[in-house]
Amino acid sequence: MRNKKLLKEINIWVYIIPFLVVIVLFSMGMYSSVSQKLKENYEHFKDDAVDAARSYSFSLKKSDEAATIIESLLDERLVAAGKTVMLVKKSFSQTAVKALADSLEVDQVCVYDSSGTIIYSNIDSYVGWKAESGHPVHDFIISGKDVSLDKIRADTISGEYYKYAYYKLASGEFVQIGISAMEVRKVLGDFEVGKIIDELNEDPDIDQISLINKEQIILESSKPETIGTRIDIPEAAAAVYEGKETGSIVRSGSNILYNSFIPLRRAGEIIGVLYVSSQEREAAYLAAIELKNSIWILAIVLLSTGGIVLMLYKNSRNYIRLAYYDQNTGLPNQESLLYFLDGLRKEEKWTGGIMMLNFSYLTNLSLLYGSDYAEKVFAEIAFKVKKIIENECTVFRTSRDRLIIYCENFVFGNETCFELNRISDLFKNVTFSDQNIYVPVEIGIAQLTEGEADPQKLLRKALIAMSRTKENGGVSYQYFNSEMEALIERENIIEKEILTSIKDEEDGKEGSVNAFFQPQTDAVTKKITGFEALARMKSGTLGNVSPAEFIGIAERKRLITPLTKLIIKKTSEFIRQMKETSGKAVHVAVNISGADLMRSDFIEDLTALVDNLGIEMSDLEFEITESLFMDDFAMSNEKLGFLRDAGALISLDDFGTGFSSLSRLRDLNVDIVKIDKMFIDNILVKNKDELIIPDIISMAHKVGLKVIAEGVETEAQRDYLVEAECDTIQGYLFSRPVKSSEALEMLLRE
Ligand code: C2E
Ligand code: CA
Ligand code: CA
Repeated sequence: MRNKKLLKEINIWVYIIPFLVVIVLFSMGMYSSVSQKLKENYEHFKDDAVDAARSYSFSLKKSDEAATIIESLLDERLVAAGKTVMLVKKSFSQTAVKALADSLEVDQVCVYDSSGTIIYSNIDSYVGWKAESGHPVHDFIISGKDVSLDKIRADTISGEYYKYAYYKLASGEFVQIGISAMEVRKVLGDFEVGKIIDELNEDPDIDQISLINKEQIILESSKPETIGTRIDIPEAAAAVYEGKETGSIVRSGSNILYNSFIPLRRAGEIIGVLYVSSQEREAAYLAAIELKNSIWILAIVLLSTGGIVLMLYKNSRNYIRLAYYDQNTGLPNQESLLYFLDGLRKEEKWTGGIMMLNFSYLTNLSLLYGSDYAEKVFAEIAFKVKKIIENECTVFRTSRDRLIIYCENFVFGNETCFELNRISDLFKNVTFSDQNIYVPVEIGIAQLTEGEADPQKLLRKALIAMSRTKENGGVSYQYFNSEMEALIERENIIEKEILTSIKDEEDGKEGSVNAFFQPQTDAVTKKITGFEALARMKSGTLGNVSPAEFIGIAERKRLITPLTKLIIKKTSEFIRQMKETSGKAVHVAVNISGADLMRSDFIEDLTALVDNLGIEMSDLEFEITESLFMDDFAMSNEKLGFLRDAGALISLDDFGTGFSSLSRLRDLNVDIVKIDKMFIDNILVKNKDELIIPDIISMAHKVGLKVIAEGVETEAQRDYLVEAECDTIQGYLFSRPVKSSEALEMLLRE
């Protein structure tokens, strides 16, 4: 049924959405913190790489300077040696050349002929070697120069490094002087790229280090397999051409590569770029550590917020369960029903009908077997009702013994109404409880009428209809109709009349409720022996309202006790007037309702009231209907005993209509038996031998009770009663109930 969503239920999204928001925000925060950390790591790494490259650059510069100094020292020695050689005048010989090399402290002295062939050398094996075209010696020959200094170079024959100087002699021959440069090479070798690369590669933060040239080709690398490949990264080009220190982070899949490019300079010129990178393992490892920490925090946040949200959700759900659902049956309760009906009203779906199912029989079960048992039976009822009707309708438990069923497609007033038929079939054919009992149900049906979308009114209609069903021990139902409403309207007016009367009485004003008094006379002497106070209502709007009607309403609306007090007050005024004017006072009987007698403070209250009013208990008589004894005999009888002890008379009203047997009279705390009018009416109708009046009277007399006959309208009835030895007579024959002033006059006339 589509309206089910109007039931009060917890909205889980209210809890899930904030939870998700917290988690998403937190994850975003964590993501940015992790990437921030990674960025910081990269910065560190870059700084390290730059430092390394700078120190390398610096070393190169220093090594250049050192080389220059050493070379100039070697040059000075070679120039000095050359000058000495030029001074040699005699011709050379192998011995002379060797001596010369020793005296000059140089490593090589070679004498060439003009064709470039060594003719003398301090190293014997060199003699006869000829400089070919393209060799530095050959270059010197063809240059036409007299003196030349070579750069440090490898010796063609030995391969060892030397610095050479050449001097042309006047003879056309020339001399080559060489000084070993191995020591110099050793010093400079420390600054070789490969060596630097190896050293830097030992830094655990650096994964790969390479030297690239201007063409971005790797010349040297800690990963030899990459030598000769081209680095195609824009930052590398920028470093080469603009001489800037550049960096980049390259992501490929899960790998992150940190790159740094630091230009290398020699004598102010860029000679290449140092390419340093920290790759995969380091970056991934750092990221993993960060992530691991973050995941822990995320897990804690997830668990704690999840826990809190779950707790809140459960609390709210429990609250909703408690507030909007019946614990025993699990059905939505009265609150839910109002919420539901309000939803129908707001969504303008005010159609269909409701059935109010009342199970007054459950009260009996509760009295007989206890309320737990009754609850169990109710749960069974609820379950079965729900089962047969749930798809079409929504079932609510609105009170201890009541269900309300809302049916969207209910066709009002239709005798063959599907939902109603189902319900009545259930209660007609199915038994409940372990005792297999048929549960009687009273059903009030009301329609959701357009233009009158008022939940309270609707429920009232169903209640009115329900209250008009006849308790017939089976299934009885009533559709609400407007006559019922008129009746209720009348009840409301009467209720208000009663209320204002009570209020008026308290304020000392004359209200619409008054007491009339009907004389009771001695059957034989016809003298007044007492009066019965009877309540009268004269309503401004409704006119005279019979006590049979307004007393019933007062009882239902719990106004009977103040009303009884009002009558007792009027009665006390009448008694005081009697005492004042006639000097004698007869008993005045006041009718006591069952609801009065049931009150725990009834005796106290009544005693105090009588005291207050300045009359005696012995001035009063209390009329109790015999049905009252049925409910709680011991308690009622005890209370009546108190009143009797205090001096009041007790009479048993409407005797014969109820169930108490004559034999029981002995046990009752009563003084008078009041034979119901029904028996008196029979006097004129039935055969004398069918009448039980004489039996009642003699039985009552036997147990010491007086007998009064009420509703005596004819002389014939009176004659009969006199013959049957009835003590007192009350009825229209003598007088109708009259105003207190009239009653007083009657008494005075005697
Ligand atoms: P009830 O206590 O049985 O009162 C006797 C009723 O019979 C009275 O009706 C009275 O007017 C009427 N009656 C008396 N003699 C005759 C007669 O000869 N012929 C006919 N046809 N009727 C006669 P009333 O005053 O209409 O009261 C009806 C019932 O309302 C009373 O029945 C009593 O049960 C109740 N009632 C009246 N006043 C009070 C009251 O103050 N308190 C309570 N609790 N109930 C009251
Ligand atoms: Ca009475
Ligand atoms: Ca009566």
